[in-house]
Amino acid sequence: MSDSSTMFTLIFSDALSTVPHLAQQLGDYSTSCKVRPGHSYPFHLPPQEIKIDEILYSSQRTAVYLGRCGNGLELALKFTNIEDMSAEAGIYDAFEKLQGTKVEKAKILNKLAEAHRAGLVHRDFAERNVVVQGEDYRIIDWASAKRHMSPCHWSYDFTAHVEDDHVEPTDPAVQCFPLKSWAEYMHFWDHGQ
Ligand SMILES: [Zn+2]
Repeated sequence: MSDSSTMFTLIFSDALSTVPHLAQQLGDYSTSCKVRPGHSYPFHLPPQEIKIDEILYSSQRTAVYLGRCGNGLELALKFTNIEDMSAEAGIYDAFEKLQGTKVEKAKILNKLAEAHRAGLVHRDFAERNVVVQGEDYRIIDWASAKRHMSPCHWSYDFTAHVEDDHVEPTDPAVQCFPLKSWAEYMHFWDHGQ
């Protein structure tokens, strides 16, 4: 089932076999471990052999290895399980792809604001729940949404304010704590930094 065109081959040095570490669980350890990057993140390295001869960090749940490509490029390779990784990366990593232009953030935040005005609060707002449709964004997976406690008073149009570095906390247009928090998480305002 493996698609060899996207597979990397990891070759672990014999010197690493003297201590227990996470990658020993890989199939075909130690000289021909086939791995490939997950689909969720852009990956900029073409498939190739990577030689690993040093452990930079090792614990029961996580290990970081120093790898070397054929052209001498050094890489840090982190192994962990997906649950630990998500917990560790938290919300910032979930929005990595959305840290693009402010216009894109504005479009997404306007969608959230629209939902608020319709009386819905998304409680599982994360990158996996933002999908692109043409030039537009859709926020999906409203299964765990709840009703907005009182009518949302947010009237700040993000798209019309992409030049803003900050908002006045007392501005009547920005009086919704969850929405303002999401905008801060997505670094919509840089607060002069
Ligand atoms: Zn609101």
